[in-house]
Amino acid sequence: MEPAAAPVAVGMNTGELVGPVILLGAPGAGKGTQAIRISEHFGIPQISTGDILRHNITQGTDLGKQAADLMERGELVSDQLVCQMVGDRLAQQDCAHGFILDGFPRTVNQAVWLDKYLAENHFFDTKKGCKQLVVIQLVVEYNKLLRRLTGRRTCHTCGRIYNIYTTQRPLIEGVCDTDGSPLSTRKDDREEVIIERLKNYESQTLPLVKYYAEQGRLREIDGAAELNQITAEAFKAIENGDSV
Ligand code: AMP
Repeated sequence: MEPAAAPVAVGMNTGELVGPVILLGAPGAGKGTQAIRISEHFGIPQISTGDILRHNITQGTDLGKQAADLMERGELVSDQLVCQMVGDRLAQQDCAHGFILDGFPRTVNQAVWLDKYLAENHFFDTKKGCKQLVVIQLVVEYNKLLRRLTGRRTCHTCGRIYNIYTTQRPLIEGVCDTDGSPLSTRKDDREEVIIERLKNYESQTLPLVKYYAEQGRLREIDGAAELNQITAEAFKAIENGDSV
């Protein structure tokens, strides 16, 4: 069975030229929440590899079957499978003028693959009209991450993310404020799996900070700051992308 494509997020375009945006950060750093805001503001699609994989699991595709056990244990899916999946998504027309990657790349191999893919597919040529890559790292300390992940609840209808321990809790417990759907906890948000995911982040994804810092592309933002402040700083980093 063919891998299932995740639903495409289309937002209001500011008309501004943006580049591909990468959101780096540990699980629970707030990548998903910020990615939705960036996607809506700049009118670029949000590509969340975790969401696409979960969608494939729900649809019972071959990709979903290969990823399910690894994801449930908090381990990473192979670079080969994930890069193939991202390549298929980036080839779609709505990615030609920018996109936001949430949860990808997660290893240096994936980052090297992405650089090559963007160059070979002429993303930065004038005809494609993309500005240069912007990499935003959301920095949050370990104990806060643990608390955020154990309190995270998601609406599967609209994708909105809540947290029962913070001001982002829903008005009615277990119910989405936006559409009234029930909220659920992700299977991999159990404490023992969370610890495994955070360990994998440190060993496999943190080296990307150095990789992008050496390219001069990294923008660090305090992911524990007030939500709107984080968003404002992210927008500024994206708007100033070419001055990196
Ligand atoms: P996320 O929703 O980003 O927290 O991802 C959930 C899970 O999906 C991860 O713990 C991994 O098992 C898998 N996954 C998501 N993105 C990637 C990636 N870029 N490389 C490998 N595995 C991934």
